[in-house]
Amino acid sequence: MTIIIYGKTVCSICGKVIRPDQKAIGLPHLISNELDNLFIYNDGAYHHLCFEKVPENEILFSYLRDYEELTERLNAAISTGLINNPEEILSTGVLSSDPKNPLWAYNLKFYSKNTVQEKELLTLKKLLSEEKLKGTIRGRAIDWITERIDRFISV
Ligand SMILES: [Zn+2]
Repeated sequence: MTIIIYGKTVCSICGKVIRPDQKAIGLPHLISNELDNLFIYNDGAYHHLCFEKVPENEILFSYLRDYEELTERLNAAISTGLINNPEEILSTGVLSSDPKNPLWAYNLKFYSKNTVQEKELLTLKKLLSEEKLKGTIRGRAIDWITERIDRFISV
């Protein structure tokens, strides 16, 4: 999550300091795909008013809500002992904001090793490698997801 230090952190849109009396928003590392149009908003800090003027703000807000819901579910799974090792979690983030991309269906999902759905993960892995070849996805997060799928399935 982006840390906002009021009076110090600069808004990524207007370039001005976010003052303590201003409403602000910080985006986490939501977008996994470096080639997605929304990747530039990852880890950004913004004045609320500036962010509302961004054309993609509605979709970003909805991703943020889904992300927060997911984080809550994840924390619940950890606190109830359902998951006790961060290595057992696979979180996809936003793979594509284009509804026509087959990876769109896998946005903001999380899988745990205990309840692994092998078939679904194999499909995801296939799509990731296909889209990579097509040049629509790229990035460390994408590689991380692929590696984790391999690890979940091979054991
Ligand atoms: Zn601003």
